[in-house]
Amino acid sequence: MNCRLGCVLCCIAPSITSVIPGMPKGKPAGVRCIQLNDDNFCMIFGLPDRPDVCAEFSASIDACGTTNEQALWLITDLESSTC
Ligand code: SF4
Ligand code: SF4
Repeated sequence: MNCRLGCVLCCIAPSITSVIPGMPKGKPAGVRCIQLNDDNFCMIFGLPDRPDVCAEFSASIDACGTTNEQALWLITDLESSTC
């Protein structure tokens, strides 16, 4: 599936344990990534500092659903079932 422009829930809903520039311990679930700018673009997209987990995540119906609300609960659910 194609990513929904402006959704960005994969930069908010999951926890990320890798180092993110400006977030040396990664980020907790539900916290907006510090690298997400006001226009909802990743400021380190394509740069080596971007966590591998971000590059590896791609839009799928299982994780993103068909609405942003579904993405929030699906990613939160995935998170709780893998921790
Ligand atoms: S949660 Fe899915 S649809 Fe939303 S921005 Fe991330 S990849 Fe795209
Ligand atoms: S580093 Fe970029 S892609 Fe990864 S969570 Fe932060 S804003 Fe999103």
